[in-house]
Amino acid sequence: MKPKDGSNFRQDIVTKTNVLILAGLDPTGGAGLVADIQALTDAGVHPLPLLSANTLQGPGTPAEFQVVHSHFLHRQLSLVINNLAPAAIKVGMMGTAETAQILIDAMNQKSDKIPLILDPVRSASSGGDLTRKGIRDALIMMGPQVTLITPNLPELSWLSGIKITSDNDLQRAVEKLGSFGFNSVLVKGGHNAGTPVDRLYVEGQKIWQRQGERYGYTIRGTGCRLASFIAARMALGDTLPAAVDAGYEYVQELFVMGE
Ligand code: PLP
Repeated sequence: MKPKDGSNFRQDIVTKTNVLILAGLDPTGGAGLVADIQALTDAGVHPLPLLSANTLQGPGTPAEFQVVHSHFLHRQLSLVINNLAPAAIKVGMMGTAETAQILIDAMNQKSDKIPLILDPVRSASSGGDLTRKGIRDALIMMGPQVTLITPNLPELSWLSGIKITSDNDLQRAVEKLGSFGFNSVLVKGGHNAGTPVDRLYVEGQKIWQRQGERYGYTIRGTGCRLASFIAARMALGDTLPAAVDAGYEYVQELFVMGE
């Protein structure tokens, strides 16, 4: 399709729904920003990709990272939010409290509320911490602004401060997140031994559950892709449970395709 303004510069962002991503760059392309872009493209929306941090990681190399300068990120966020009307935001690795604060400030300045999906990334699959001191408190402060948070079990335990060894612990941990303002929590059960169960809680009540299959291998970046696909579907008008269901199906299909 030719651009309508007579120039030779065509932007898909003119015609497609935009979704903003803030995430880290994994040079293997398995997780982070690259996985997010793939999921958004598969969902049929246009990614507005903002880099929070550049990482060094790979086989045998535990992750290290350098964050993007806060002033520069602030300018990028303002530009994208004010001019490109994202219909949803997906946040993955942020790395530092300073980066989280920039996002919080940008959200506070925004008059209309759009879905914000937060994947509280803590560590890299290849090993290594993707967070610095202070990030936990910063993530917790984001509670009231977050539409859905998508922790795996270790991340839920880290954020809530509750060791999870039973269903009762899980319920208490979700309620603890609720007390921080996280109204909706999708707990990913893949890190547990046995059959992986994903559960969606809204206001402390479990409203959705899916029991997945255990495959003989893992795919990197499944958490990133799941949260991004959910953000895309919400941007396109799905309700939260419908978007979660669609995201779950999308990730399951990736496993089946990889067999
Ligand atoms: N973001 C980045 C930049 C990463 O490197 C990783 C994992 O290595 C993640 C996010 C989390 O990946 P996953 O979707 O597997 O939880």
